[in-house]
Amino acid sequence: MFRKILIANRGEIACRVMRTANRLGVATVAVYSEADASAMHVAMADEAVLIGPSPVQESYLVIEKIIDAALRTGAEAIHPGYGFLAENAAFAEACAAASITFIGPPATAIRAMGEKAAAKALMEKANVPIVPGYHGADQDDAVLLQAAADIGYPILIKAVSGGGGKGMRQVDNAERFANALKGARREGLSSFGDDKVLVEKYLERPRHIEIQVFADQQGNVVHLFERDCSVQRRHQKVLEEAPAPGMTPEMRRTMGDAAVAAARAIGYVGAGTVEFIADVSHGLSEDKFYFMEMNTRLQVEHPVTEMITGQDLVEWQLRVAGGEPLPLSQDDLVIDGHAIEARIYSENPQKNFLPATGTLHRLRPPPEGPHLRVDTGVREGDEVSMFYDPMIAKLVVWDRDRASALRRLLDGLERYEIAGVITNVNFLAAVAAHPAFAAGDLETGFIEKHKDDLIPAPGAIPDQALALACLDLLLARTGHAASADPHSPWARVDGWRLNGQGHDELSFRDGNGEDEIMVTVHYPSAGGYRLALPGGEMLANGEVDEGGTLWADLDGLRVSAAVVHDGDKVTILSGGRAHRIERTDPMALRDYDLEEGGKVTAPLPGKIVQVHVAAGDNVKKGEPLLILEAMKMEHTIAAPRDAVIAAIPFSPGEQVDEGTELILFEASTDG
Ligand code: ADP
Ligand code: ADP
Ligand code: MG
Repeated sequence: MFRKILIANRGEIACRVMRTANRLGVATVAVYSEADASAMHVAMADEAVLIGPSPVQESYLVIEKIIDAALRTGAEAIHPGYGFLAENAAFAEACAAASITFIGPPATAIRAMGEKAAAKALMEKANVPIVPGYHGADQDDAVLLQAAADIGYPILIKAVSGGGGKGMRQVDNAERFANALKGARREGLSSFGDDKVLVEKYLERPRHIEIQVFADQQGNVVHLFERDCSVQRRHQKVLEEAPAPGMTPEMRRTMGDAAVAAARAIGYVGAGTVEFIADVSHGLSEDKFYFMEMNTRLQVEHPVTEMITGQDLVEWQLRVAGGEPLPLSQDDLVIDGHAIEARIYSENPQKNFLPATGTLHRLRPPPEGPHLRVDTGVREGDEVSMFYDPMIAKLVVWDRDRASALRRLLDGLERYEIAGVITNVNFLAAVAAHPAFAAGDLETGFIEKHKDDLIPAPGAIPDQALALACLDLLLARTGHAASADPHSPWARVDGWRLNGQGHDELSFRDGNGEDEIMVTVHYPSAGGYRLALPGGEMLANGEVDEGGTLWADLDGLRVSAAVVHDGDKVTILSGGRAHRIERTDPMALRDYDLEEGGKVTAPLPGKIVQVHVAAGDNVKKGEPLLILEAMKMEHTIAAPRDAVIAAIPFSPGEQVDEGTELILFEASTDG
C-alpha cells in the first residue's frame, strides 16, 4: 500500500478519496486553486499545494502543476477523482514519466475509450452490441446530414469527446440538424477541445443501465453488478440506484459478461464503468441493450455499488494500483439489499435546472449511519462559486429492499437543511415520492414525462411558512432569539416601527418575485403575536435555540423550522420543504414592473458565445437571441416577447455579470 497519495481533484470526490486513505493509514496531499484556499478538501488533507488561479484551465487542469505538487510533497501515486484529468491519457503518461503511479487504467485503455466514436468501433469488433449510427472519421456537414437521414430521425449528435451530458444535441428533423450540429461542435470544442461528433439513433424509451467493472494487473476482471441511472436532466444523472428495478439474473449475467468483455478488449486495469442504454419500449429484454460508452474512472454514483456489495471501491483502486490482486472473485461478490443515491445540486428546477451560485448560509445534512451516507465537499458558510460543478452533496441510502430504501431517501431529503442557494432538494423529494418512481417505472425521459408533478408552478407561499418567517423576525427584534445577531438584517428596526394603533405591517415578495404579501401583526396582551396572513389569522409564539432552530407554536400546533436570512432573502426550512421569500422594505420597493416589459438579463455570470440577432431585427417570442456560456454550459437566451431589437451592447467573447441587460428592445407599441 502507498505511503502517501495526491488527489488531483476538489470537492466531494477529493474528500471521499481521503476518507478511505485516512482509514488505511495513507497520507494525503490536496491541491487547490485560489478560490479553494479554505475548502473542505484542503482542510481534510495532511498537506496541500496551491496550484494557481480559480479557473480550472489555470489550476486543476494543468498537468505540470499537479505533477510538480506530487514531486514536491513526495506523493507516490495520484488519484484523479472524476472529471478534470481523470480520463486524460496524457496525464496518465505524465505520471508514469515522473515515476508516479496513476491510480487508474493504463493510458492506452483511456485512449481506446476516450473517444466515443473509436470506442464504438472497438466494441463492434469485440461483439458488444452498440447503438446504430455513424461514427466515421469524415466530419463533413453533408456526410453527417446524410448519415442522420439514413439512421432515421430522431437522432442524437454527440461530441465524440463529450462527457457529463455536454456536447449532445437531440434532433427531430432535418431542418434542425445544421444548428444542432453547430451547437454540439462548439460545446465539444470549448469543453473538451475537440469538435468531432458522431450521430446515432435516438432511442425513444431508453433506460440507462451501467455495469461497474474492476480489473487487476494480473488479468482478473470482475463486475460488481449494475446501476440504473435513468433519472436524468440535461442528459445528466440525478438519481441512481442498484440493483436496477426489474433486472433478471439472466439479463444481469448477459450485461455483466458484455461489460467484462469490453474491459478485456482494451486491457483494462482498475475501476471502470460500461454504460449501456436499454430500449424498454417492450420492457427490459436481453437482446435490447447497447453499449454507449465506457467511463475509465471511478463514477460519481459508485457509492450505491459500495452499499449493496459492502466493498470500498477506492480501497480496491488503491490496492490494484499498488499491484495487489482483486480483493474478491466474481463468485464472492453478492448483492445485499438496495441502495439509492440522490445528487443534491445548487440549481433551480423551475428554470430548467439552471445552476445557481451563492453562500451556503445553512447546511445541515441528516445524521449518517449504516442506512444513510452523505458524500460532500462543502460545509456551512462555504461558497458555491461559478468556477466549479454546482453539486453540493450526494445522499446515499441503503435498506433491505427498494421500498424501504425509498422511504429512507425521502426521510433523508426532508431532513437535509440547505439555505442560501436554490437547490433541487424539493424536486428530488418529489421524484422519490412519485408513484411511477416507486413502481420502478423508469426511463431517461422520466423527468420530462412527469415534470408537471415534479416541478409544480411556483405557488403562493403557505401561510404556515409565512408565519414562521414573521415569527422569527419578531423574535429577533425583541431579542428573544438566542442568536440576536446584530448583523442580521432582521435586527434592523428602521423600516418598521410600532405605530400608534399597536400593530405593525410586514411586507414580503414571494419566491417567484411577483406577488406582494402583507402581514399585519397585533400584540395581544396575553403574549405572542396575532398575525393577519393572506388565509386568515394565526396566533404565533415560540423561541429560537442556540442551533438556530425555531420552535414555534402556531395556533397550538408545534413545529420546528430553520429560518435563514441572506440580506433581504429569507429561506424557511420546515416540514421537509424549503420556501423562499424576500423581505420588502416599504420605503424601498424595487420597480419590478420594469421587468414585466421583458428585459433580457444574464441569468448567471458568463461569457457571450454567440449572437444570433442584430439591431433592427424583428424577433418572435421564444426565438433564440444569443448564447451565454456559464458554469461550463451553454444557455440559450430567448426572446421574452415579439419585439424589435434596438441594440446589443455585447459581442461574442465578452464577459457579463449576472443581471446584466443583454439585449435592448424598441419600446413596444402594443402596450
Ligand atoms: P456522456 O459522456 O455525456 O455521459 P453518454 O453517451 O453516456 O454521454 O450519454 C448520456 C445520456 O444521454 C445517457 O445516459 C442517455 O440518457 C442519453 N443518451 C445517450 N445516447 C442515447 C441514445 N442513443 N438514445 C437516447 N438517449 C441517449
Ligand atoms: P457521465 O460522464 O456518464 O455523466 P458521471 O455521472 O459519473 O458520468 O459524471 C461525471 C462527469 O460529470 C465528469 O466527467 C465531470 O465532467 C462531470 N461532473 C459531475 N459532477 C462533478 C463534480 N462534482 N465535479 C467535477 N465534475 C463533475
Ligand atoms: Mg455517460
